[in-house]
Amino acid sequence: MSEERYKARQSKIKQKVDEKVAAAQTEKGLLLVITGNGKGKSTSGFGMIARATGHGQKCGVAQFIKGTWECGERNLLANNGVDFHVMATGFTWDTQDKSADTEAAQQVWQECKKMLADPNYDVVLLDELTYMVSYDYVALEEVVEALNNRPVEQSVIITGRGAHRTLTDMADTVSEVRSVKHAFESGVKARKGIDW
Ligand code: ATP
Ligand code: MG
Repeated sequence: MSEERYKARQSKIKQKVDEKVAAAQTEKGLLLVITGNGKGKSTSGFGMIARATGHGQKCGVAQFIKGTWECGERNLLANNGVDFHVMATGFTWDTQDKSADTEAAQQVWQECKKMLADPNYDVVLLDELTYMVSYDYVALEEVVEALNNRPVEQSVIITGRGAHRTLTDMADTVSEVRSVKHAFESGVKARKGIDW
């Protein structure tokens, strides 16, 4: 490509980007849903929490399902002022006790509702919330109500596979992480620092 054509093309691209930047004027907290079967949903959520924390914003994290597991992000972020609410007992895929699982989910959900009502929180991560809704441990209507009534400037990230259509419809940003391949399928063990 000639220098001239290159310049013309780049300036056209720049013009389009500038137009889009100029058009994006709304300032509000966002609802983001990171779903799909590929690896990278929770790490994306934690990445945004790290990003916001780095800007001095107040963040909170609720971890559904994996509360009994160790998690590297928690070790780091809890020491940097991020509030964590983790499911201490109950649902970890391997329990079969519906009422205990529901109670464990509800305990964390009550903390979520407090964060979603508190304007001090800039960003809240609801990690693996999608399953709580799918299994009806937490009522979809309650989640919708809490999200709709949250402080205008507060952003919320929901992660987990199979996000309910109502949640993706409500969200401002939805990303679906598609699995192309995963090491686990070829027999590689989950790895500290990569998988947890
Ligand atoms: P991560 O926490 O690494 O971002 P994730 O949140 O996208 O992963 P989850 O469904 O929450 O994925 O599963 C968490 C664990 O399962 C991680 O150890 C992850 O590496 C693993 N995992 C994620 N996707 C797959 C997959 N497609 N096949 C097998 N294991 C997976
Ligand atoms: Mg996850």
